[in-house]
Amino acid sequence: MEQLLKQDPVVMGMLGKQPVCNKIYRPLIYVLSTEEDDKKIFYNLLTHEMIAVNIMELESSENRKYFIENWYLVPEEHDDQQLVDECRAVLTMMDSWPKKIHVFHIFTTLDCNARCFYCFEKRIPGSNMSTNTAFRVIEYMQEQAEGNPISIVWFGGEPLLNYPIIDVITSGLKERGLQYQSEMYSNGLLFDSMLVEKAKKLWNLKKVQITLDGTRQVYKRVKAYVTDVEDPFERVFQNIKNLLRAEIRVKIRLNIGLHNYRDMWDLVGFFCEEFKDEDNLCIYASPLFEVTKYVEKKKIFMYDFLDEINSKLSQYIGEKKEKEFARTLTNSFCMASGREAVTILPDGMVGICPNITNGFFLGDIYTKEINVKVREDFGRRYYRGDKCRFCPMYPNCYIVNGCPNKDDREGCDSIMVKRQIRRIKEKMRIKCRLGVSED
Ligand code: SF4
Ligand code: SF4
Repeated sequence: MEQLLKQDPVVMGMLGKQPVCNKIYRPLIYVLSTEEDDKKIFYNLLTHEMIAVNIMELESSENRKYFIENWYLVPEEHDDQQLVDECRAVLTMMDSWPKKIHVFHIFTTLDCNARCFYCFEKRIPGSNMSTNTAFRVIEYMQEQAEGNPISIVWFGGEPLLNYPIIDVITSGLKERGLQYQSEMYSNGLLFDSMLVEKAKKLWNLKKVQITLDGTRQVYKRVKAYVTDVEDPFERVFQNIKNLLRAEIRVKIRLNIGLHNYRDMWDLVGFFCEEFKDEDNLCIYASPLFEVTKYVEKKKIFMYDFLDEINSKLSQYIGEKKEKEFARTLTNSFCMASGREAVTILPDGMVGICPNITNGFFLGDIYTKEINVKVREDFGRRYYRGDKCRFCPMYPNCYIVNGCPNKDDREGCDSIMVKRQIRRIKEKMRIKCRLGVSED
């Protein structure tokens, strides 16, 4: 037997070795297996151990003992899901010391200058954060962070529609001698040389995420800007260049659906050519939420397309390297399941998730207290009934109970789960061929 990945010591510390009894055993739901030459490879998503066993020796009593003691086999009546839940509960307890909130997603406005047909955010004209609110936001961040470095994510709507408030907040933090840095989600249209300079010198902006929907004509049609710009694609393209020149990282998300996929190879070709040596740029393709509602044939087509385009992008531009293998039990997913981040809306309400602007409030900037009960309810793991109960990915998957997209999430779609498993098995075979054991 060859160990290709070591066990997660934290989970094994909770589980201990399983006693060998005189019972009928079956494989744990979370064990993925595949074959390579004369070997059978097993990857246990609960303990995160991976082993390869010679097929001829599979049934040996020594191997059977190992499989039982190390949770590859469990008694027929065993409740696999409950075991994962118990481990998660212990992990939550181990991580229960108080944490300071030091990450703030600030909505400078809920208004936007684009009209993307797929946008789920409720655009609210005239909803800019006021200067008085911004002054209080500065104090609030200082009170909550209690000396920890502050991270800000500028959000909206389109955050640059109200950029003076970014000036007010960052100047305030600077005057108080507080350590801060920021990131931004923007459509990128309004950056000009003055704003790029401010972004660098005052906002301490490290990264901008910009969404693109296609080349010139397609982009113009999908974004449907109300800002009067003759060629918005060219403007955004130049702005991306300016940001990169100022050494601000740019992450481009290509939103893809049936309406624009034909245009994507041209767009990707153009970017690969323009930015092939650019280390600060990363591009990845992502399906629109509506893809999860396509009929099966179209869905498979779209996922194949995304795989192909992402593999080309990872070859030519920036990160998007898949993590090789998960190494520990997933016990949180996004900022909404942690305790270090909040959102601040233009009116000073403090929330949990940047995709929810009209509910699930933890408090407001005028009171230091946070409603812990709302946060706990929101962050609980959400179950998709029997789908989760028998899903091999369960230990690696955590969905937040309050998530507005919990029923649409890409990974919860059964086609997507099958594809994920297929990909993991491919990687297991590669790992076995390489035959290297990890520390
Ligand atoms: S939309 Fe869902 S996944 Fe995203 S931050 Fe909110 S709760 Fe988390
Ligand atoms: S991938 Fe979907 S079905 Fe599987 S555990 Fe996660 S939420 Fe449940």
